Amino acid sequence: AKDLGCSTFQFYTQEMNSVSLQRLILETHLRKAFEKEEFFLHYQPQIDCVTNRIIGLEALARWNNPELGLVSPGSFIPLAEETGLIIALDRWVLATVCKQLEAWQAAGIPLVRVAVNLSARHFLKANLNKTIQQIRSRGAAARDHLDLEITEGMLMENAEEVVSVLGMLQETGVNISIDDFGTGYSSLSYLTRLPFHTLKIDRSFISQSGDNVESASVVTAIIALAHSLGKEVVAEGVETSTQLQFLKENGCRVIQGYLFSRPLPEDKIRELLREGRIP
Ligand code: C2E
Ligand code: CA
Ligand code: CA
Ligand code: CA
Repeated sequence: AKDLGCSTFQFYTQEMNSVSLQRLILETHLRKAFEKEEFFLHYQPQIDCVTNRIIGLEALARWNNPELGLVSPGSFIPLAEETGLIIALDRWVLATVCKQLEAWQAAGIPLVRVAVNLSARHFLKANLNKTIQQIRSRGAAARDHLDLEITEGMLMENAEEVVSVLGMLQETGVNISIDDFGTGYSSLSYLTRLPFHTLKIDRSFISQSGDNVESASVVTAIIALAHSLGKEVVAEGVETSTQLQFLKENGCRVIQGYLFSRPLPEDKIRELLREGRIP
């Protein structure tokens, strides 16, 4: 009995150890990933479905570690959020996108706006001030084409502060998009007070819009809401032509999703921007 107790104990601690050990390994690699330059970006096109032109891109962080391989954002973004490394990552993405816009401009490539995700953590005033300075220090090419995405969930945290911080951001000349819209619970009166340009309909509603009446109604309601507020609306996660047709019929012009293009590396995006449209 004593032996059994001992081995059971060992079994449990080993199991716990392996989970926390894996996390620790991931975290250790993540901390070093900056200096080792293991991050890179993919860009996913946003298409005007009436003209088929590319009107924007979303920059999405990718992490390639020599030992771990390509780690999915689904695992390293939450870890980066928990550890606070997300602030450094978001700033790295922002700086990289600015440099990329300047490089495209220098190469004579027609610029479109590029969306960068800012995590909720990033949204505390102290953190954001430095980021705003970072944006202000860039040239007009970058500033005029930046689009900052903040999730709807994050708007709920401190209404007064959010209104003032978004105002400060908008004064730098950047576009502001509310991401994953429909999943939070923003009130209408709050939305009318917020400075922003674009609502992005969360992918979950788009993917269910074909077989679920409620999701379809949420989609049409968000499109109508955006238009009545004079905002642009973007549908993300569009995978099928049925979804596209539904969105078109309901007046949503801007589409992001695998149907048109997956997120792509810079060299592919450069070609697409030269063409101006998805072939
Ligand atoms: P998100 O901001 O909602 O980004 C859209 C995600 O949906 C991306 O996943 C994109 O690849 C995926 N997607 C686009 N179209 C489709 C489609 O048609 N079907 C399906 N199934 N998926 C589609 P990804 O790149 O894996 O990123 C996941 C999340 O990680 C992002 O969700 C965002 O919240 C976060 N993330 C990625 N990069 C960054 C970053 O630089 N900073 C921060 N703070 N978060 C980031
Ligand atoms: Ca996003
Ligand atoms: Ca989103
Ligand atoms: Ca999302």
